[in-house]
Amino acid sequence: MKQGVCLAAALLGVWGLLTLMVGHLNNLIVPVVQPVSAQEAILILDAGHGGEDGGAVSVTGVPESRINLEIVLKLRDILALYGVDPVVLREEDVSLHDSDAATLREKKRSDLQNRAAAVEAVTGGTLMSIHQNSYPGRQYRGAQVFYAPTEGSQELAETVQTALRTALQPDNNRQPKPIPDSVYLLHHISCPAILVECGFLTNPEEETLLRTSDYQKQLAAVLAGAWLTAPQMEPPTC
Ligand SMILES: [Zn+2]
Repeated sequence: MKQGVCLAAALLGVWGLLTLMVGHLNNLIVPVVQPVSAQEAILILDAGHGGEDGGAVSVTGVPESRINLEIVLKLRDILALYGVDPVVLREEDVSLHDSDAATLREKKRSDLQNRAAAVEAVTGGTLMSIHQNSYPGRQYRGAQVFYAPTEGSQELAETVQTALRTALQPDNNRQPKPIPDSVYLLHHISCPAILVECGFLTNPEEETLLRTSDYQKQLAAVLAGAWLTAPQMEPPTC
């Protein structure tokens, strides 16, 4: 546990401060602050994609990897205000592949294997992977949280999905879902893990928001608040 002293006291003001930071959150419900619990786990932040692998491309041509990284860095900085020092898998626009990976396919495979290894190397870790969604239909929008098939993942996903709806997207009725089999990282780790699709890059209105620093900050603040107030979790298994 790397957190500083007085974290419990700091948590008493977490939602108040986060509300000030994000400005105009809708229908914010102040949760009862639980005893520090999830914070005893080490949060691992993963900004999806990076480097040659830009992930999805937004309707204005912005790579998903860039928005993922911006949100992760803002989330890291907000958590630092509360003495939380997450492990951040990438802090630059890079792929984490081995140097002997040649093709883009090999690089992506190596990158994901290295991310999984980095997660597994953390004792007591909990993974939060940040991505952006895309879909052929431009009407789809709203954040969606997916969870790994590991203990504690579904509960964390429900906490985060609820926080996003309560604080930021009151009309978002999406429910947390099991992560699809195709997502390598969340199927090759043994600790609690969620993947947050923060919004749809294929929805013009939401894409405009997702490109702005203010909205990225709002998302980061909600994710930070959800983590800081997450209910008691079982002892970490990895
Ligand atoms: Zn992605």
